[in-house]
Amino acid sequence: MKHNWLLYLMITGILLGVFCGWFYGETMLSVGWLGDMFLDALKMLVVPLIISSMIVGISGLGDIRNVGKTGLITLTYFMATTGIAVGIGLVLVNIMKPGVAVEMTVDKIPENVAGKEAIGITDILQSFVSPNLIQSMANMEILPLIIFSLVFGGVLTTLGEPGKQAIAFFDTVNNAIMKIVHLLMYFAPIGVFALIASKLGAAGGGDLFLAELAKIGKYAWTVILALLVHGLFVLPTILFIVTRRNPLIYFKNLTAALTTAFSTASSSATLPVTIECAEENNQVSRKASLFVLPLGATINMNGTALYEAVAVMFIAQMMGIEMGFSEQIIVLITATLAGIGAAGIPEAGLVTMVMVLQAVGLPLEGIGMLLSIDWFLDRCRTTLNVWGDSVGAAVVDALEEKWIEKGGDR
Ligand code: ASP
Repeated sequence: MKHNWLLYLMITGILLGVFCGWFYGETMLSVGWLGDMFLDALKMLVVPLIISSMIVGISGLGDIRNVGKTGLITLTYFMATTGIAVGIGLVLVNIMKPGVAVEMTVDKIPENVAGKEAIGITDILQSFVSPNLIQSMANMEILPLIIFSLVFGGVLTTLGEPGKQAIAFFDTVNNAIMKIVHLLMYFAPIGVFALIASKLGAAGGGDLFLAELAKIGKYAWTVILALLVHGLFVLPTILFIVTRRNPLIYFKNLTAALTTAFSTASSSATLPVTIECAEENNQVSRKASLFVLPLGATINMNGTALYEAVAVMFIAQMMGIEMGFSEQIIVLITATLAGIGAAGIPEAGLVTMVMVLQAVGLPLEGIGMLLSIDWFLDRCRTTLNVWGDSVGAAVVDALEEKWIEKGGDR
């Protein structure tokens, strides 16, 4: 993906998709199949990619102490950046007060969150393991796959020569999948065009979209502004301070991943492209990108956590419920956890928001107010999620390097 022209084509694909979806509305549903094919092709690669990446990633880290340290840096980065993102969301929602004077008109619990009332921290922990790995693969439940592959890869490193051979096998699988990603990227401009055009078309085109936006527009702007502050200031600053990389170049090299994230609304489906951009274009070391990016696509959701905090505060403001400092701290903590618990699939954030609402005793009906515009905000937050993962890969890579320079534990 070294070709600039492909990047330009992808941006053109997005813009053209917006244009056609906006003006031709439902007519654009006819290109939906092209978008679905692109999405399915990406998804087809995700399971073998995750398994081989985690096995190769963990074995590349060397002995168990390095794994522990790298894991610790990675998790610290995930938690810290997610916490900051939620903090930014909370500050802006308190300043902009998007929910004040908005009338709550929905009184039904939306279908996709009904029955999820009991979701809690233990549910998130339980989702780390699966009784049936094949079923998890079929359902794209990534977390148990990651845990299994991490343990499996770790154990392979203790088995001597036969273990090395097995790792070499997965290394080859990984390389082969990445080659397929490479080929798939030639189709990406058409894929992103079709995804955006058909989604906007399904939403009724530009006029209907604007009408929906007008109803809860201030809320949408608050989310978008907070996402922008985090994505354009906080993450680039961290990237620059830790790695001394030029954030603009790093960002540009990720265009394919970010546009794919925007059009698919799925961090997991975008993962193949994210790895490709991090390794090929940004020269992040293979062991860092293979370890950090699959994990990040699954548990590091800066955008989702931020959005959940803003959404919950919006619901409280709409209902005229005062949220004091301690309630907002609870929102901060639960939104961070809810971000970890959300799967990297479209609109997963809506479901884990139940946990945040319940923690502060707000009714789930409020989610109904957010539905009409969620498909759009989902795309925006997924883009930030992927940007956060990618910055994380460079940060972990640089910190790992520093250890080696200092003659750390290797
Ligand atoms: N769609 C998001 C992602 O895949 C998750 C969410 O916020 O709903 O990263």
